[in-house]
Amino acid sequence: MESCDVLIVGGGPAGSTCAWQLRRHGLDVVVLDKADFPRDKVCAGWITPEVVDELQLDTVDYARDNVLQPITAFRTGMIDGKGVETRYPRIVSFGIRRRELDNYLLLRSGARLRLGEPLESLRRDGANWVVNDAISAPLVIGAGGHFCPVARYMGAKLGSGEPAVAAKEIEFEMDELQRLKCQVRGDTPELYFCRDLMGYGWCFRKGSHLNIGLGREDNHRLTEHLKYFCDFLKQRGRIPQDIPDHFHGHAYLLHGHAARKQVDDGVLLIGDAAGLAYPQSGEGIRPAVESGLIAAATILEANRDYSIARLQPYAERLIERFGDGPPPGTAEPGFLRSLLAGRLLDNKWFTRHVVLDRWFLHADQQALYAAGD
Ligand SMILES: Cc1cc2nc3c(=O)[nH]c(=O)nc-3n(C[C@H](O)[C@H](O)[C@H](O)COP(=O)(O)OP(=O)(O)OC[C@H]3O[C@@H](n4cnc5c(N)ncnc54)[C@H](O)[C@@H]3O)c2cc1C
Repeated sequence: MESCDVLIVGGGPAGSTCAWQLRRHGLDVVVLDKADFPRDKVCAGWITPEVVDELQLDTVDYARDNVLQPITAFRTGMIDGKGVETRYPRIVSFGIRRRELDNYLLLRSGARLRLGEPLESLRRDGANWVVNDAISAPLVIGAGGHFCPVARYMGAKLGSGEPAVAAKEIEFEMDELQRLKCQVRGDTPELYFCRDLMGYGWCFRKGSHLNIGLGREDNHRLTEHLKYFCDFLKQRGRIPQDIPDHFHGHAYLLHGHAARKQVDDGVLLIGDAAGLAYPQSGEGIRPAVESGLIAAATILEANRDYSIARLQPYAERLIERFGDGPPPGTAEPGFLRSLLAGRLLDNKWFTRHVVLDRWFLHADQQALYAAGD
């Protein structure tokens, strides 16, 4: 039987960040993922500079083989509306491709990797966990995303009874003609909100790739909303007429919209498994990275005592960082429900200072650094 100090289930940004921090402090870490990497992940692929800082990403090294599209402006509005362009004098975000970023971070983490191997069984054997009857560890971290099997083990009702965001997207490489026809610029992603303010669609150009998608708080008629959005983009000449139609769907939780138990004896959840995405924008990579860092700090302080009492500070730090959120079931239904009227999206001041700076860029929240950095 293989053994390690910490077994992480899931090699997305949450799992790889936590693994990287623990390895830097000398722990023996195994990351188990059901996918072979590089793998695709349904995601618009937008990260803020704070994420780049928190990951200590060497952008020159990264950009050598991977897409890193600087973003200095946004075009926003209502679907069917006019659209407002907001420009910044600096880089406010980056476009990345998840199959590239996740692979880069996982390889960089220095953990032992067991890829193409789903978690099939999890049982206690004395003070240790035994995973798939093959790996033994005193601490298991659930980083398997929204449908994380460790979250299920801890009592989460995956796929039912939790108000999840539903989203669909496509990312494809444009041919030469499509590149010429595409009006969306790499440095200016476009975001358009649904009339009922229950979600929004986006269109991001990253190098020669185009990412188009739409996410909503309710999953009723998602395909219809998506088609309406794509037709709108085509009518306005923003995207080529002949985009592929094989959109991929995924669901995930917004912070405060459902309560998942995040800590137990010898186990904790990070990233989407813990349901941490920002409620106003649906951005989840930053909370995934930050929860990975916070978990690593708590684990190192626990000094190999992984009782619930020693791990509980993790849950408290999550509240400190992301807030408590309203009790489940009473959350404002909302990406943008706090917007009183769609008309505000035509207002340049409101778009810059509230929608973009506060809700999408979290300009008021400093990067989180790992202890000792
Ligand atoms: C359409 C869409 C667009 C989005 N756009 C953005 C965006 O632009 N910016 C942003 O910040 N956030 C975005 N998000 C949210 C973001 O994708 C997630 O919050 C983020 O990926 C969470 O990272 P994670 O590491 O927790 O989980 P994930 O990235 O989901 O990684 C989980 C890993 O666990 C593995 N796994 C799952 N089950 C098992 C199992 N049984 N056994 C072993 N391994 C398993 C998976 O293979 C996967 O590699 C978007 C989400 C969606 C759906």
